[in-house]
Amino acid sequence: MIKPFENLMQLFRAFPDEQSAIDHLTAIRWANGKFCPLCGNADERKIGTLTGTNTHKCYACRKRFSIKVGTIFQDTKLPLRTWFAAIWMITNHPKGIASTTLATDLGITQKSAWFVLHRLRHAARTASFNAPLSGEVEVDETFMGGKETNKPQSKRVRHAGHGADGKTIVVGLKQRDGHVRARVIGNVRSGTLYPIVKEHVAKGSTVYTDEHQGYNNLRFDYDHQRVSHKNGEYVRGSASTNGIESVWALFKRQYHGIHHWISPKHMNAYLNEMTFRLNRRDLDRGQRVNGLLSQIEGPLPYKVLIA
Ligand SMILES: [Zn+2]
Repeated sequence: MIKPFENLMQLFRAFPDEQSAIDHLTAIRWANGKFCPLCGNADERKIGTLTGTNTHKCYACRKRFSIKVGTIFQDTKLPLRTWFAAIWMITNHPKGIASTTLATDLGITQKSAWFVLHRLRHAARTASFNAPLSGEVEVDETFMGGKETNKPQSKRVRHAGHGADGKTIVVGLKQRDGHVRARVIGNVRSGTLYPIVKEHVAKGSTVYTDEHQGYNNLRFDYDHQRVSHKNGEYVRGSASTNGIESVWALFKRQYHGIHHWISPKHMNAYLNEMTFRLNRRDLDRGQRVNGLLSQIEGPLPYKVLIA
């Protein structure tokens, strides 16, 4: 039984040594039963642990493994307790944490801190088995990155050149009183936007957008309602995109306040991080840490990250 932790001191008390952190990771990773990360064998009777070690053995593929194999912790030289502290900071600091700050706070190199944060952002991605958004959903696009301008958002999005100034187009979907999803897109044409909405929003839902033509096809699958920003209309009945626009404002404050600049290549990873925090804002702090620890499957090798 793991002690709850509501602050960093309690977290270090709950995990006083490396073994307790390994035990915690093991409990979370195998919460639904033991499995072998090398061959996928999920027959618990065919998985053993070598006495007095953290080495497990699979009797199906006959290989040995540690609980970190096949996760974002694979091949890490840092203690798990350091990772847990990093998870604490990235999930609980309202705007996240810069790699320079993490390096200083945890006494690790800046290269390590950068790598740790990128692996955590990878883990924070929306799990593919999540149910689609439904009910009332707002959809909008924006530009992230580059220098902040004072132009109205809708003009920034559709008339600025993509990529030339380091900006990236991002589409966001927000279920009212529900979760947010956001990702980078290459353009704002219907051929791009329509499939994304279909992938993430249950058919028959009410979808609110502005007047952008890229959303014209939504009427075939949804109760599609629009506001005309061009005509100065921001709310019409229950139609508005104010919810997703406040998400953009929140994300941009994090972007400019903490990171200052994000390479377009890594933008999706930062969006993972920001949506993870936003979607779990009602959880307590320890639950946020354990929430990220429950989705650590899939290693992210350094060479893939910097490719
Ligand atoms: Zn195996």
